Amino acid sequence: MLSLSERIKRLKPSATIALSEKARELRASGKDIINLSLGELDYTPPTFMKEAAIKAIQDNHNRYTPVNGILALRQAIAQKLQAQHGVAYSPNSVCVSTGAKQALFNICMALLNPGDEVVLLAPYWVSYPHMVEINGGVPVVVETSAQDGFKPTAEGLEQVITPKTKAIILNSPNNPSGVVYTRDDMQAIAQVLRKHPHVAIVCDDIYQELVYGDAEFTSLLQVAPDLKDRTFTVNGWSKSHAVTGWRMGYAVGPEDAMKAISKIQSQSTSGACCITQHAALAAIENEPTFLNEWRNSLNHKRRLFSDFFNQNHMPCVETAGAFYLFPNVEYYYTGSIQNDDDMCAYLLENADVSLVPGSAFGTPHHVRFSYAPDEALLTEGCNRLLNALKKLKQERL
Ligand code: PLP
Repeated sequence: MLSLSERIKRLKPSATIALSEKARELRASGKDIINLSLGELDYTPPTFMKEAAIKAIQDNHNRYTPVNGILALRQAIAQKLQAQHGVAYSPNSVCVSTGAKQALFNICMALLNPGDEVVLLAPYWVSYPHMVEINGGVPVVVETSAQDGFKPTAEGLEQVITPKTKAIILNSPNNPSGVVYTRDDMQAIAQVLRKHPHVAIVCDDIYQELVYGDAEFTSLLQVAPDLKDRTFTVNGWSKSHAVTGWRMGYAVGPEDAMKAISKIQSQSTSGACCITQHAALAAIENEPTFLNEWRNSLNHKRRLFSDFFNQNHMPCVETAGAFYLFPNVEYYYTGSIQNDDDMCAYLLENADVSLVPGSAFGTPHHVRFSYAPDEALLTEGCNRLLNALKKLKQERL
């Protein structure tokens, strides 16, 4: 019998695994399950990007690249950050990775000593606490409320920052809430963080391009360039260019820390795939005009399905980005259904629809609904939800 490492034994099982296994089982048994828990767009990636990947193969780009990525790509990323966030970086401050996820993991590994605390703002992306724990850290959660639009208050942040706090992870536009922080929100967060110079700031900007209506993406560095020496920006093309399976992302941060991150990467993957790095370069060099159409369609679905939930006693906070809604489902609690896990299990069994319970993101009583699928499928999914929920309502009366 192999004995696993203590570190892995300490890792809590994923909160959503039982449910996704159940969904898989039901699908395998022939049930037509509508999956509304997807974290990826079903659009076709832009042609210029596909052509760049094909060309990279035909041009015989077959070998290891520098561990932190090809120079042209790192230069282009540094220039993009300068243009968009107004802060100058050298290409040595950039490390290209196998998805934004690896970039985040690398940062945790580079920063954390056992017992170091990392502040997460609930609702947070489901992987953050696990990444922190695998790397010996302790997640410290700041709860936010729907009344505050799922944004942290200055007092909430102040309360959790201690001398043990090593980092905070910010994510706007947010997965799972769809909330986008305004300039004022970012300024308020920066104001708190200025008082705590020992805290590193990790900005997960992976949904930067998916912002709708009058809302605008604001980065922390745009409002607080003075925090540059302890800020990491993580981004990639998975969401903006619909290439989740190509596995490309990057981190940009203080040069010393980025050197350490390259060292980690040199002993784990030796660097990102050379073919997708050429495709990523094309993605930076070409204007993302295709995004206008994607945004219009996503914004339409955002409005349509926010109305659906709001009109059916499942209030959603006003969202402005990503492709998720995060409705509260407490209205329908009855009998044995008393939390969001029960609710998702019930809806999977009785509506053949799979959603993600809010508890997985640190915010119970909500469910995450992804409006990435096409409108017809979403409409069918919502009709099924409504029928199953009506039964619960009748039970309650
Ligand atoms: N950060 C957030 C908030 C995400 O939702 C995801 C993917 O779902 C990632 C990072 C990971 O992105 P990638 O696919 O580039 O690793």
